[in-house]
Amino acid sequence: MRSSPHDEQFRRTIREWLAANLTGRFAALRDAGGPGREHEAHAERVAWNRHLAAAGWTCLGWPAEHGGRGATLAQQVIFYEEYARSRAPARVGYLGEELLGPTLIAFGTPEQKSRFLPRIAAVEELWCQGYSEPGAGSDLAAVSTAARLVKGEGEAGGQWVITGQKVWTSLAVEADWCFVLARTEPGSKRGAGLSYLLVPMRQPGITVRPIRQLTGTSEFNEVFFDGARTDAGLVVGEVGDGWRVARATLAIERGVATLGQQVGFERELNRLVELARQTGASADPLIRDRLGRAWIGLEAMRAHALRTLAGGAGGSGPSELKLLWSRWHQELGELAMDVQGAPSMAARGAPYDLDDWQRLFLFSRADTIYGGSDEIQRTLIAERALGLPRQARA
Ligand SMILES: Cc1cc2nc3c(=O)[nH]c(=O)nc-3n(C[C@H](O)[C@H](O)[C@H](O)COP(=O)(O)OP(=O)(O)OC[C@H]3O[C@@H](n4cnc5c(N)ncnc54)[C@H](O)[C@@H]3O)c2cc1C
Repeated sequence: MRSSPHDEQFRRTIREWLAANLTGRFAALRDAGGPGREHEAHAERVAWNRHLAAAGWTCLGWPAEHGGRGATLAQQVIFYEEYARSRAPARVGYLGEELLGPTLIAFGTPEQKSRFLPRIAAVEELWCQGYSEPGAGSDLAAVSTAARLVKGEGEAGGQWVITGQKVWTSLAVEADWCFVLARTEPGSKRGAGLSYLLVPMRQPGITVRPIRQLTGTSEFNEVFFDGARTDAGLVVGEVGDGWRVARATLAIERGVATLGQQVGFERELNRLVELARQTGASADPLIRDRLGRAWIGLEAMRAHALRTLAGGAGGSGPSELKLLWSRWHQELGELAMDVQGAPSMAARGAPYDLDDWQRLFLFSRADTIYGGSDEIQRTLIAERALGLPRQARA
């Protein structure tokens, strides 16, 4: 993607803004948060994100009428690159900004847009994604959480009453709202009869139970709906058409933010090269070989991401990208353990004080699972890129 002089000016603007603002009380937030580290400085990161929002640095790609900047794809790429390079802390509102917001812009009613979009852009309300269930992960159409409409309660059209359970719900403890895929037609099967509901999290009918992860932290959760309620009008798209809306959100999930993620990967690789020099592992030919391969992988990933975002990679482009980065990142974690050698096998202290490399090694186990597992991505490639017959579905 070629940058115009206008884009380069944009790059200078965001770079200077970050340098001038990631100071004072925000300076200590550098590198805080992100996968496996979402517990770090959450309240301070919310304050930082609101500061970004007040200067118009959230929701860049959204149209201005919805609180965005209408930034071009090239500008969004520049923003994410500069943001990652500045080591600014991980964003707290990405599920609202990157998943729900674009879905509402495409499918929401004018009331839903004006109710929710400005608060996502201002980081006043945080969201979580209520898709997966104990019996519905890769096979998302098996969702069984049920919602029924009860008239005469709440707003004029009544209220949805929701019963069921979600699982692996990232950041549910912090979230104010959840976008929930629920079965609204009793007895319906698979993708039919599902609806996409917007549900307030802080109510008596919802219990959130954190799940302790391999890293010792708890970013994802079980969410229990026991007569939880939301207003009848808070359905995105038509009632019963939630499968289409939910799939649209999934397509957005593999979007432009991957470029920023790759800048973070590049930083991790650079730090690992530095560590290899310090530990002497850089003299080991096999380690050198793997470091070299990691660098090539990063270059290939970046080229592929740009091509995919520009629409040049065909229907299986996002799946290819997911496979490239998830395997690459896991291998980097494994390499980091080998660069450190024996000390990588012990925590720094009780109860579970991991260093950054150990956390990377352990948390990257999840990379090949969330956002569609590697096996599912390969099936999509087999069908979409190679034209093989569709896999028999349950
Ligand atoms: C860190 C993390 C955060 C997450 N955050 C969220 C969130 O915020 N909201 C949310 O809704 N979900 C979230 N998830 C859940 C995630 O989307 C699911 O874990 C994922 O879809 C896989 O589903 P599952 O865990 O039920 O595994 P399963 O679907 O049971 O899969 C188990 C294994 O079988 C394989 N498999 C399954 N079906 C097939 C098939 N047809 N062909 C070949 N192999 C197959 C899978 O690849 C996997 O290896 C998160 C997961 C993780 C790890």
